[in-house]
Amino acid sequence: MSTGFVPSRVPMIQPDKDRFLAEENPFESMMSRFDLAAQRLQLDPGLYKILRHPEKQIIVSVPVQRDAGGVDVFTGYRVLYNTSRGPAKGGIRFDLAVTLDEVKALAAWMTWKCAVVNIPFGGAKGGVVCDPSTLSPAELERLTRRYTAAIIETLGPDSDVPAPDVNTNERVMAWIMDTYSMHKRHTVTAVVTGKPVEMGGSLGRREATGRGCMLVIREALKQRGRSLAGARVAVQGFGNVGSIAARLLHEAGATIVAVSDKSGGIWEPAGLDIADVLRWTAEHQFVEGYPRATAVASDDVLTVDCDVLLPAALENVITSKNAGSIRARIICEGANGPTTANADRLLEEQGIFVIPDILANAGGVTVSYFEWVQDRGGYFWDEATVNDRLERIMVRSFEEVTAMATRHGVSNRIGAYMLAIERVAAVHRLRGLYA
Ligand code: NAD
Repeated sequence: MSTGFVPSRVPMIQPDKDRFLAEENPFESMMSRFDLAAQRLQLDPGLYKILRHPEKQIIVSVPVQRDAGGVDVFTGYRVLYNTSRGPAKGGIRFDLAVTLDEVKALAAWMTWKCAVVNIPFGGAKGGVVCDPSTLSPAELERLTRRYTAAIIETLGPDSDVPAPDVNTNERVMAWIMDTYSMHKRHTVTAVVTGKPVEMGGSLGRREATGRGCMLVIREALKQRGRSLAGARVAVQGFGNVGSIAARLLHEAGATIVAVSDKSGGIWEPAGLDIADVLRWTAEHQFVEGYPRATAVASDDVLTVDCDVLLPAALENVITSKNAGSIRARIICEGANGPTTANADRLLEEQGIFVIPDILANAGGVTVSYFEWVQDRGGYFWDEATVNDRLERIMVRSFEEVTAMATRHGVSNRIGAYMLAIERVAAVHRLRGLYA
């Protein structure tokens, strides 16, 4: 059963995405921002305690038959952080660096992100500690199916809906959906999102995060009486989020002055021809060697002269070391966690307008929500409808976050957390505490 479609040009294993290993304990690092926001909201002490704890943490052993004979046992996790607003939503990653604390932190993050864009989901995350590059496609399929079976009690369109994350993709989602459906004895497409379009995936999902970034950058510029036309943008990371955002920004008239990926950076103050750069990376994989720009170090892209900086690669790239050298006036956090807590303070002192990750990259989960809605309704939308509805949600969320920040005199990041916590807390108050 390991044959079948592998969507063309989508590798079996995608490169590492957000290796979220912020401080020694990622959960506490994430929660330090939660604490600040909770204090500003004067959150009731009981609710504070509830929201600081994940609802459910599952640890499973995943035995896998190796192709060469013998069995290996992997450890898998699924954490449901909070489901007061709806089914838990969050990706599954296959990575050696997966830990329970990391999964808890990422599940909390999903809770706040879904609340910021006001979609009816709670937050979850899952992972299996493994190095998928050492697994054959058949072993990867067996691992995916056994992990799915091990956590099957929590899964379901009404309870817990996974999606792709680090080193998992459409192919893995198709196996999860199939395993779940075989247990249920009927096809259940809405149990995962980020599926291939042929089997219930949504049009526009692949572009959604980059499109969301473009939309919130447009709104931030608009607040300053400017437009995308002529805005100078630097983009770190040229993968799904960075390359799509760069293309959409370029098409809307922005000047992309620099981009980078893990091979290095390229810089052209007069503006890169993004279609040409995309042709180059399609052929050569990386930007390195691109002939019609100046080669620069990858990190230099963060500090080039520009109006907008879009970190769309890794966590912890804007730190107390380089925050003082950033020349952009707007930072749009396409990546998860690109800014450390220490850098937060420095950026604030310099008056840099930060569009925080839980707003900036929420376009992806928003279109995942659309996918779930379409699967459950059995009625599929055209791409223009998806994009139009995404735009309305991103624009509204941007306005709500910035209004909250202004009202309370806090950064946009703390404003976003406050908005999210307030929404989750409101539902807890209405529902009451089940004894
Ligand atoms: P991706 O794997 O498609 O792309 C990552 C890019 O970053 C690649 O171009 C890679 O070469 C580059 N990169 C790696 N190390 C680098 C370095 N040191 N300097 C510069 N560039 C470097 O991943 P993606 O899906 O685009 O995700 C990027 C970030 O956005 C991650 O933090 C991810 O969690 C976050 N995010 C993605 C989505 C989504 O829908 N894809 C949604 C929400 C958040």
